[in-house]
Amino acid sequence: MFPLEKFQQIDTPFYYYDTELLRQTLSAIRDNITPEMHVHYAVKACANPKVLSIIAQEGFGADCVSGGEVQAAIDAGFPAEKIVYAGVGKSDREIILGLEHGIFAFNVESIPELEIINQLALQRGKVARVALRINPNVGAHTHANITTGLAENKFGIDMQDMEDVIRRTQEMQGIQFIGLHFHIGSQILEMDDFIALCHRINEIQERLEAAGFPTVSDINVGGGLGVDYQQPNEHPIPDFKAYFQAYKQNLKLRHGQQLHFELGRAIVCQCGTLLTRVLYIKSNPIKNFCIVDAGMTDLIRPALYGSYHHIENLSAQSPSDYVTYDVVGPICESSDVFIKNYGMPRTQRGDIIAIRSAGAYGEIMASGYNCRQLPKGYTTEDLA
Ligand SMILES: *Cc1c(COP(=O)(O)O)cnc(C)c1O
Repeated sequence: MFPLEKFQQIDTPFYYYDTELLRQTLSAIRDNITPEMHVHYAVKACANPKVLSIIAQEGFGADCVSGGEVQAAIDAGFPAEKIVYAGVGKSDREIILGLEHGIFAFNVESIPELEIINQLALQRGKVARVALRINPNVGAHTHANITTGLAENKFGIDMQDMEDVIRRTQEMQGIQFIGLHFHIGSQILEMDDFIALCHRINEIQERLEAAGFPTVSDINVGGGLGVDYQQPNEHPIPDFKAYFQAYKQNLKLRHGQQLHFELGRAIVCQCGTLLTRVLYIKSNPIKNFCIVDAGMTDLIRPALYGSYHHIENLSAQSPSDYVTYDVVGPICESSDVFIKNYGMPRTQRGDIIAIRSAGAYGEIMASGYNCRQLPKGYTTEDLA
């Protein structure tokens, strides 16, 4: 499935994006949504310009968490009216950028932020469409660092303050309050977590209606659908049917209400692979180290979250001759380890190793630590 001969001609490390798989993933999403459902790709998962432009061309919107992402989305061809912008700490410059482009909505996380958006909009004779990000206090069964929907997390407005904040929006001439926004975490594989969010949103809508607030036009449930890191070949495309079904069956939308999603990982993760070459094999009495030329500067997830990535030796000479390795990078940090005690066909210097499921939170999180160059990203078309 990988163009190994092409890979052999390229300096490692680099990211490879299988754009055919990306397009199949996008079409699997389209097959499972109804006309009132809108999917905004979460740019923070991967902002490779070619990946972004394919997603834009296929008609999806964008979910941004910084002015830089709003700009990247615009540059890649996402129409401003399909861009939503979230984030606990939007700067004035970033808010102005969103206003000037006339993005679809700001997902607002506090009253002070609301006041600044109102002020900046009024100064420009504009009205900002705003959804309030509510912290639904719904736990997600995922890594503690990537759960976001609990009261202890910094994100969103507390449910008890919701009515007050909505009243404030009604007094502000520069603000048009359009909806409610939620996002409970990432790499979520239990549909029950999304169902719990649906039930919470149903409660919230009933509570607001009982208090006499008008029905909002838009509900945004965020993203968070996970992927199968263990078996990327068996499950290259996430189970979108089950995911969207959870919302179709459990969320009680009001007449005409539009439902927005912000999927990042589920769209790009499996189509991206980090390619690296073996530099040295170093053995001691207890370990075989497979030292590769990619490190935590290229893919930080294993060091940051202890994440698993499936690793393959694409150059294996004798596929059945398994050896146990710690696959490690060259960075001067003990945490610069991709995987420990991993069985892999015997490797030697120069072999090309594929670190799979690296399309999300991979290239975009790369750093220049140790004065290293940032990895390049190539698509199927680039190597054709
Ligand atoms: C990160 C993020 C997303 C996307 O999360 P995934 O797990 O990649 O789907 C969506 N919405 C918001 C507000 C986010 O911060």
